[in-house]
Amino acid sequence: MTPDYSSAARASRPAAIKTLLIAGLVAVSTAAAFTLRSHAVGTSTDSATSATATAAPPSALVAGQIPSAPKVDKAIVNSRVKTVLNTPSGDHWQSITVARGQTLSTIFKAHGLNPDDWRSVLVLGGDTSRLRHLQIGNKLRFQIINGQLQALTYAYDSTHTLDVHRAGQELQANTVTAALDHRPAEASGQIHDSLFVDGQHAGLSNNLMLEFAHIFNYDVDFGQDLQAGDRFTVIYDRVYKNGKKLRDGNILAAELVNQGHTYRAVRFVDKDGNAAYYTPNGQPLRRAFIRTPVAFTRISSGFSLARLNPVLHTIRPHYGTDYAAPAGTPVHATASGRVAFISRDGGYGNVIKVRHGAHYETIYAHLSRFRKGLGTGSKVQQDEVIGYVGMTGLATGPHLHYEFRINGEPKNPVTVKLPRGQPLPPHEIVEFRKEETPLVARINSIDSRQYADNGPTIGTR
Ligand SMILES: [Zn+2]
Repeated sequence: MTPDYSSAARASRPAAIKTLLIAGLVAVSTAAAFTLRSHAVGTSTDSATSATATAAPPSALVAGQIPSAPKVDKAIVNSRVKTVLNTPSGDHWQSITVARGQTLSTIFKAHGLNPDDWRSVLVLGGDTSRLRHLQIGNKLRFQIINGQLQALTYAYDSTHTLDVHRAGQELQANTVTAALDHRPAEASGQIHDSLFVDGQHAGLSNNLMLEFAHIFNYDVDFGQDLQAGDRFTVIYDRVYKNGKKLRDGNILAAELVNQGHTYRAVRFVDKDGNAAYYTPNGQPLRRAFIRTPVAFTRISSGFSLARLNPVLHTIRPHYGTDYAAPAGTPVHATASGRVAFISRDGGYGNVIKVRHGAHYETIYAHLSRFRKGLGTGSKVQQDEVIGYVGMTGLATGPHLHYEFRINGEPKNPVTVKLPRGQPLPPHEIVEFRKEETPLVARINSIDSRQYADNGPTIGTR
């Protein structure tokens, strides 16, 4: 069986094009940015002033109604000193912003310090090594009394501060970790304009809405399936430091009502530390395959079991989908697997075949080049770049010819039902339930409030 792999850039097939998620997101994002400017909403993403976005009161944490903080943060906080470092003030303190070409040693010299002191700081170990790699714009604070270094602080990220201070003749170094406070917040709204515009109206940042779209993108094509009247609900983590909001954290749970169908997702970190979103039943939202391997401009030729070949002018099946895209556009593996073939091969041109377990195979043809370091037997991850669009082999223009095979049989890549990822194993379900139950209860209560309010009042102002 010789597969047909030629391009059909001139194919007159009607544009029954499923908008590619990535392209769709970019398009939506761009449109949102434009609309947002013209809307001049006047609310920063931090303020979440919308009526529907409310931070949970800290008491809710005590009441145990909301999930524990993400495990990673907890581990960091527990492993360090749980003290809040007050910004030093008072006499003899000065702030220094690192300028081009400056090092700790030149900074010490410039402030009339004993040139040996910078060495005695670095030998203290721990995070003092960070002072070796100062960059333009880093901020340090020094306390110098009678020409002697008394203290030095360096907040090297938003939660960690290196604190060096003199105790008698000795210098000591500690790293102080700000105690972070996690307060889940919620927001919900209805789609009138776009996910990003309506998300913003509900007090959600574009980053959160992008995360939201990524969570559901295996089930919903946001480029074309989203409709006015659809609803979204998001419960997300908010991180506070010293009582001030530091940043938004992850989405903890979310709901999308799309064309009358309700999708729900709950975030769960398994015991190996892998975070993923699951349905309330413990099924992963993520599929084993992403739908489309490339950000394409259009489908130049669809899958067909009998089609007129534009190069050979014969009726031959087309066992894949041709995605037109500029030469050099990155091509992504649609699922994790192993490279079974990577070479030049006749009409396919530069082609990669990836095996995914015993039954699935995907094929990427006409590539201009392969990703460096990739060879037969290489492992690839889902969404990893494996090559670049080109027109090698039998092709009339730059495009990716993509095939999806199950047990050797070619399937239509655009419509084939994609298998789900692995469900949670039974021993993880118990832990999952502890997080899922209160979150789903909270979504239910948000929903009942919304519908009791006659629904449309939300997000219509
Ligand atoms: Zn093709």
